[in-house]
Amino acid sequence: MRLLIMGPPGVGKGTQAVGIAAHYGVPAISTGDIFRANVKNQTELGKEVSRIMAEGGYVPDEVTNAIVADRLTHDDAAAGWLLDGYPRTAGQVAALDDVLAATGQGIDAVISLVADTEILVARLLKRAELEGRADDNADTIRNRMVIYTDATDPLLATYRDRGVLVEVDGIGAIDEVAARITSALDAKLG
Ligand code: AMP
Repeated sequence: MRLLIMGPPGVGKGTQAVGIAAHYGVPAISTGDIFRANVKNQTELGKEVSRIMAEGGYVPDEVTNAIVADRLTHDDAAAGWLLDGYPRTAGQVAALDDVLAATGQGIDAVISLVADTEILVARLLKRAELEGRADDNADTIRNRMVIYTDATDPLLATYRDRGVLVEVDGIGAIDEVAARITSALDAKLG
């Protein structure tokens, strides 16, 4: 099973990714988590991306694409994966297409979590208080929303055209949204 999960900042992609990946027995691969771990461990990559992340910008495609291409060669990804937070740009969609074409693989479904932006901004501000994430202040949140709308939201149309998009209402209790996702995937994949 090869899945993507997409949606605006704060919609709960990361939380749902972990549950859905466990449900299908594949690893949840989050580029955000990979970058955060590198920032925390002060690696070269971490030093390169920390400011971009703190401002809510996107890490350059060359960097992100190389990390994902490498991660997908790990043993645990041989039978499938769920990518959380990747692809986010048209260049990343193309890079992922190339990686998959090289191995004769395809994406089974793209989960699109849908929610109202105002609700998400409120959620992110609350998460900033609770977790103290460097990229969860009011300016950064606004920046992340604008970048998402400009660069990432249009990618959903690409996957809709390919017939793999599964849209799910992202507002609700974690279990409710998880149940919506699995039933939508069951309906899609049979
Ligand atoms: P996330 O946890 O998915 O919200 O990602 C946190 C931050 O990591 C983002 O705001 C970006 O700065 C960076 N990031 C994560 N995934 C990507 C990606 N696919 N392309 C570029 N930057 C990314």
